[in-house]
Amino acid sequence: MGFDVLSVASEVFPLVKTGGLADVAGALPLALKREGITVRTLMPAYRGLLDRIENAETVAEFDDATGRTARVIAGRCAGLDLFMLDAPYLYDRAGGPYQGATGEDHPDNAARFSLLSKVGAALAQEAIAGYRPALVHAHDWQAALTPVYLAASNRPSPKTVVTIHNLAFQGNFPSSVFPSLGLPQTHWSIEGVEYYGQVGFLKGGLHAADAVTTVSPTYADEILTPDGGMGLDGLLRGRGERLVGIVNGIDTDVWNPKTDPVIAQPYDHRDMKARLQNKRALEGEFGLRRESGPILAVVSRLTWQKGLDLVAELCDELVERGVRLVIVGSGERMIEGRFLAAHARHPDRVGVRIGYDEALSHRVQAGADAILVPSRFEPCGLTQLYALRYGCVPIVAAVGGLADTIIDANHAAVTAGCATGVVFRPVSGEAMLAAVDRALRIYRHRELWRSLQVSGMKTDVSWTASAKLYADLYRALVNETNGS
Ligand code: ADP
Repeated sequence: MGFDVLSVASEVFPLVKTGGLADVAGALPLALKREGITVRTLMPAYRGLLDRIENAETVAEFDDATGRTARVIAGRCAGLDLFMLDAPYLYDRAGGPYQGATGEDHPDNAARFSLLSKVGAALAQEAIAGYRPALVHAHDWQAALTPVYLAASNRPSPKTVVTIHNLAFQGNFPSSVFPSLGLPQTHWSIEGVEYYGQVGFLKGGLHAADAVTTVSPTYADEILTPDGGMGLDGLLRGRGERLVGIVNGIDTDVWNPKTDPVIAQPYDHRDMKARLQNKRALEGEFGLRRESGPILAVVSRLTWQKGLDLVAELCDELVERGVRLVIVGSGERMIEGRFLAAHARHPDRVGVRIGYDEALSHRVQAGADAILVPSRFEPCGLTQLYALRYGCVPIVAAVGGLADTIIDANHAAVTAGCATGVVFRPVSGEAMLAAVDRALRIYRHRELWRSLQVSGMKTDVSWTASAKLYADLYRALVNETNGS
């Protein structure tokens, strides 16, 4: 059965990306097409984005609560059908999607993203003549009020799914913003958006949605616990069977070592010698001394969540083990500073690039021997999936999606020939170093290392399997609407 889905997201690759959410919002629609499901995506028209939209056409106009006009512009980019929400007073400004150039949250984020959800709800209820989606899929807190506005409208509306990409970001605002949301007073309650005396965008959405998904089965379990639930575990436990975990896939065309235009030398699992040229190129790019040991890499937000304070603290211990490090990322100043200091101490063994660089992240995956992902929690994680695809062996903490996607090189897995990485717990410096030591032993056993690389490269990390699961979920919900 084919039908239309409206996806609502605050970032969509390749137009704007701060993390995994953008990758998912950009790739899932393409994968669902193969399931016979047509997805259109509503997103804000941040500065400069409209220039990149083909066949742009204004399809709807709205007056917002302050009397200003927002337009919806339909168009296409990179194979995606888009509705760009053009409200320059909210979105046409310097900085990122959520923060200004100085790193502070935009002060009007509540207005910026409540409008996104409000327009999402309007489009779901036929604000554009002839467009009638059977289901709305809202991503993260920025879009989470969509089902809330639909519920508040008291009009027939499509089924709704809210996906949690990271429960740490909940979109909580002071109670004073409530009147500006334009919701009925009854929504200022535990059944609505009220959340410990604040307005909780994600909280409201998780309560109102017909189904809630998150991005891995293990994370779906973790968020039901007080530790992982970040205040929302009670509400989530109440959703019971309506909460499911579906692992993210990756765009295997964009991430393909055989055709990747930005790496030094294309390769595949049959021709791993060519991979070595990428390692040489990476050594050159970071000024690393050429030696026989492995290069361990990090491509990540440099934050406590990602456990990168542990890596930053242990740079010297890692270097002592004969490891060279490549660090690409930005985030908490203290972690950045520690990595830069480690580079100053070991200029030809620790390469550091502070910043965001998509092409460089491809070259790192192609040239490094292993990627280190010691996250304290990780809803899904994409870096380890790119690593699998590029034969860069993941060394990961046993949490969330990392635990679901990497098969530890324990005796049973090695014997069965299915190991793809090294998995450790608990998330501590000691356990991480022990995991690196284990990885080094495997690295010295060349054939075993090669088998980990090849198993990883053969792993299906595409969207195919997960798109089917989303499609099944959508179909089940749409069938409920149809009463079957
Ligand atoms: P999260 O969304 O929590 O940041 P994920 O692993 O799900 O973590 O997704 C992060 C995405 O951002 C991956 O595509 C990763 O390669 C990319 N990324 C993170 N930091 C950088 C960086 N400094 N340069 C390039 N890509 C980065």
